[in-house]
Amino acid sequence: MVRLLAVSLTLAVVSQAFRARHKSKLQTRSKAKILTPGDRSNRKEYVHALSTTNRFCPTRCASEIVQPATAEELAEWLRENQGKPFTVKGGGHSYACQSVVQDGGVLIHTERFNEVRVFRRPDGSAYVRAGAGLTFDQLVPRLAKMNYSMPHGECLTVGLGGWALNLGNHPELKNFDNEWGYNGTGFINKIKMVNYAGSIFTVDKDGLNLIERGQESWLGWHNRALLTKAKGMGIDFFSPDLRASGPVMKVMKLYGASLAIATEFEVELIPKSEPGFFQVTYNVEDILDDKGGRGAKLMKDIVDVVANAGPDKDLDCGIFYASHYFKGTQDGVVALKCTDWVSEKGDTIAKYAPPGYKALEPKKSGFAFWTLNSYGKGWVPMWHAEELANFQEKNGSEKYREFLRHMERGDEQGPNPCDACSSELMYMLEPSVTPHVMFDNFCSGTPVNQDECSAFAFRAKAKFMEGRGKVMYKQNLPSCVADSNWKQHTAEYGSGGWEVGRTLKWTWDSMSKPKTSFWLGLGQRDDLPNGATCEAASLQEVGATCQAHGISREDLAQAEVEKATSKCPSFKSYVDFDDQNNICSSYIYEVAAPPAMTEVSA
Ligand SMILES: Cc1cc2nc3c(=O)[nH]c(=O)nc-3n(C[C@H](O)[C@H](O)[C@H](O)COP(=O)(O)OP(=O)(O)OC[C@H]3O[C@@H](n4cnc5c(N)ncnc54)[C@H](O)[C@@H]3O)c2cc1C
Repeated sequence: MVRLLAVSLTLAVVSQAFRARHKSKLQTRSKAKILTPGDRSNRKEYVHALSTTNRFCPTRCASEIVQPATAEELAEWLRENQGKPFTVKGGGHSYACQSVVQDGGVLIHTERFNEVRVFRRPDGSAYVRAGAGLTFDQLVPRLAKMNYSMPHGECLTVGLGGWALNLGNHPELKNFDNEWGYNGTGFINKIKMVNYAGSIFTVDKDGLNLIERGQESWLGWHNRALLTKAKGMGIDFFSPDLRASGPVMKVMKLYGASLAIATEFEVELIPKSEPGFFQVTYNVEDILDDKGGRGAKLMKDIVDVVANAGPDKDLDCGIFYASHYFKGTQDGVVALKCTDWVSEKGDTIAKYAPPGYKALEPKKSGFAFWTLNSYGKGWVPMWHAEELANFQEKNGSEKYREFLRHMERGDEQGPNPCDACSSELMYMLEPSVTPHVMFDNFCSGTPVNQDECSAFAFRAKAKFMEGRGKVMYKQNLPSCVADSNWKQHTAEYGSGGWEVGRTLKWTWDSMSKPKTSFWLGLGQRDDLPNGATCEAASLQEVGATCQAHGISREDLAQAEVEKATSKCPSFKSYVDFDDQNNICSSYIYEVAAPPAMTEVSA
């Protein structure tokens, strides 16, 4: 009895000592940086952290912007603020205002998760550990300096976090999922994340690994881990073509941005430079030329190159249209942009490019701008995908030519009221298994012409889609046009995906009082009913918190221009899109510094 008492006492003392040590460790931890709108000494930093890429999104101000630099700082903030809803922002590149905070709400801004380190193994293979708050321009060109490649989005200023947790891809690089690259294996080895209880954990091919438990029980953590793995295995069974390192990684790739906050990614690198990337430029006036059906034939031939390149293992191509492209005339361009997987000189694309082009030249695979002077401007989201066979059968190439005519000449209601426009037409497979064509359109403007420009883009898109019904959206590329059947039309939510995602959300973030309410489904926002027209479609009133602190739409637009200036200081001196986009992309690669490297044993 006495021995038992002694053991219990010893245990109590040890556990008290452990708790005290744990508490003092937490107390000595550094804290996340907090920015508030009332603090004028931090005004520039606050506005920079708040601003997002699409300036047609509403201007709303956070009462508090939380900027952790480590997973521990983020975990501690979450543990101390249980129950407080928030919005998470990565690169701020979402189309449909997903990282715009509620007025007076809390924004968790991940930009300080920005470390980059390459780990090289004895056999020369390597992986990079990269902060989740990085944008691709801060990562990919730096790796290129060491002759390493990794998957990335088309636009260099897209954020790693929002892209990777959301089926991110590059239409012509296809995440290097071919013989040239990963050949069917997932490229993300590990993600470090913090959940809403403030638990720090990693995700890898085997599942979830707890590093430090937050405000939740052991049982709660393990139940969730088991359930997530079971769902992951189900997803794996029904979607074997979706690439990921393990079933839980697949869950995160699909629904991760609704479940937890990523702080760091470990990505397996390809130990060689990217394959040759080329553009073949045509003057849009040649495409619009109706004499003897010349333009229609050229457009059809260009679309056919894209359709045929899709299943061709040597080539992948898409179409890019941009107004204000050519030097001097400022004529628009229709370009084939292609990855030539087998020829660094572009011999494969040279073989297939229809005659009549102005130039066939190498280009960076990443874009710095999406329309002329795009930073600080907004656009109305217009992305969708549709079945390629149906597109071709319904003479899609001629419909696209008509769409480009609207971009260039305006429509029955008058000239194009936007500042500049671009559009893309590309081949797409994942997450579908049948070939799709994806369409995108950025018609950019400012608050002065937002409503007119949006209405114009809606009309042009409606005309383009006439006679072709079935479309598909992605959860981060939703329909801006009101769509009562949006769940069925969203790639991640159709065929039971909604139910899977919703139960996952329920396990990670209570549905009764969710902390992030938006991401899993447009309809989950209190202020945005299911399937409503998206917020960017019309000019919204500036939020009360911004008004109270004198923060205007122009301040946010200026912050975006400053971001672009910091990446390409002379962008304003380039008066055509060709120079602005291509010189700036090249400049970003040129000035990039190689990241730190550590040699590892395995
Ligand atoms: C010009 C342009 C070009 C694009 N090109 C491509 C392309 O080629 N390929 C492609 O796949 N997509 C592309 N996109 C779409 C883009 O990848 C997605 O919108 C992506 O989600 C943006 O991520 P972000 O971090 O920059 O954006 P944000 O707006 O900051 O975040 C998007 C969403 O992800 C969440 N999120 C961000 N970081 C984290 C994190 N660390 N943890 C948890 N959640 C997080 C946010 O809460 C938000 O809901 C493009 C977008 C634009 C505007």
